[in-house]
Amino acid sequence: MVPSSNFHAPMASRPPSARQARRLWAIGDVQALDAHDPLAARREAFQLPVGTIYLCGNSLGPMQPGVRARVQHLIDIEWGVDLIRSWNLHDWFALPERIGARLARILGAGADEVTVADSTSVNLFKVACAARSLRPDRRRILTERGNFPTDAYVLQGIAQMSRGGTEFVAVDRQRISDAIDEDTAVVVLTHVHYKDAAMFDMAAITARAHAAGALIVWDLSHSVGAVPLALDACKADFAIGCTYKYLNGGPGSPAFIYAARRHHDAMHPGLVGWWGDARPFDFADDFEPAAGMRRMLTGTGPVIGLLALDAALDLFDDLDMNEVQLKSQCLSSLFFDLIEQKCAGFGLEEVIPDPPAPRGSHVALRHSEGYAIMQALVRRNVIGDFRAPDIMRFGLTPLYTSYRDVWNAVDVLAEIMSTGAWQAHEYTLRSRVT
Ligand SMILES: *Cc1c(COP(=O)(O)O)cnc(C)c1O
Repeated sequence: MVPSSNFHAPMASRPPSARQARRLWAIGDVQALDAHDPLAARREAFQLPVGTIYLCGNSLGPMQPGVRARVQHLIDIEWGVDLIRSWNLHDWFALPERIGARLARILGAGADEVTVADSTSVNLFKVACAARSLRPDRRRILTERGNFPTDAYVLQGIAQMSRGGTEFVAVDRQRISDAIDEDTAVVVLTHVHYKDAAMFDMAAITARAHAAGALIVWDLSHSVGAVPLALDACKADFAIGCTYKYLNGGPGSPAFIYAARRHHDAMHPGLVGWWGDARPFDFADDFEPAAGMRRMLTGTGPVIGLLALDAALDLFDDLDMNEVQLKSQCLSSLFFDLIEQKCAGFGLEEVIPDPPAPRGSHVALRHSEGYAIMQALVRRNVIGDFRAPDIMRFGLTPLYTSYRDVWNAVDVLAEIMSTGAWQAHEYTLRSRVT
């Protein structure tokens, strides 16, 4: 097992002036962008605190009143009155596949290839074990060094459990393609990187893995609901991801699992339970895997979380993800243009993929005092987050972020930087969650 050091993915940062294709923006231009924004009306589906510019939807999507109404009904009627009968009466039992089918459209998958259960971390364990068991003659699980930590930790855990049967290997992003060899059983990659938002070419890397005889698992936590996805067309094997980020499912909402139909009969998730059994209400002594995605379930699902997610997805039913991505790219360009225009000389560095790559829907700036600066921003109701050691992240979520929000947020940042307001002692005290 290759130990994972405190290494961080190599990312280029350069002073804003190094980027080309700049333009100078006036407030009127920004207002015009909002006036012609085809997604502007989507904001009405959300309830955001007045005066807050919320740039953290890549960590926790905001609340929709439609979700509250659905959860309220669940609490008052389904749980409150109908009680245990609701498993049949309101078909709680079918929620994982019913919501899975709705997610399938967003993922570019078949309705029978997606289910919803547990957390992304737990689901990664299940699909990595499943993929591993489909390549028994190979020893290696390969991932990117600097991947989101849980991905590496889960895979290290699998390697440890196997007592030498599985080797965990993490290599730099640029070396991934070359590192996929005849001993690689599974490649596990996060499609959009959580720090610099660099996006892998899913079709190309999947083809590369398959050419070497390996299987691939995609973590779509920072992709789903932000960029168009085509799991089936890319011939992906397995995928997992969060629903509380761009899908706005609510804090800790259950995660999804995708498995290509061709693997359904042979896949074994490693972690199994009675909900994955073919006939859970036979209460048999020995496990018999259910057909299809049901075998990926373990135990009783979080019904409140599932229903909140179901309601949150209403927004996506008629949404064109290409339109969402296009606006995201415009918001990002505007953000970086304005950083150059209003924040030059403050020591803020753009964090951009190296080599240049398509990006997801958040942007990042690097500053050695990033934590304190972000705290000062949050105090002024511009909410982003911080990723150690020095990265400030801003989610530019097209469904409720206006161009004017970006303009205003950069204004607040410029004010904090020019006055040195971030240097106040209170902003240096670290909370447990950053
Ligand atoms: C947010 C995120 C996770 C979170 O996993 P949980 O099990 O929900 O805590 C996992 N992977 C990636 C790439 C993420 O960005």
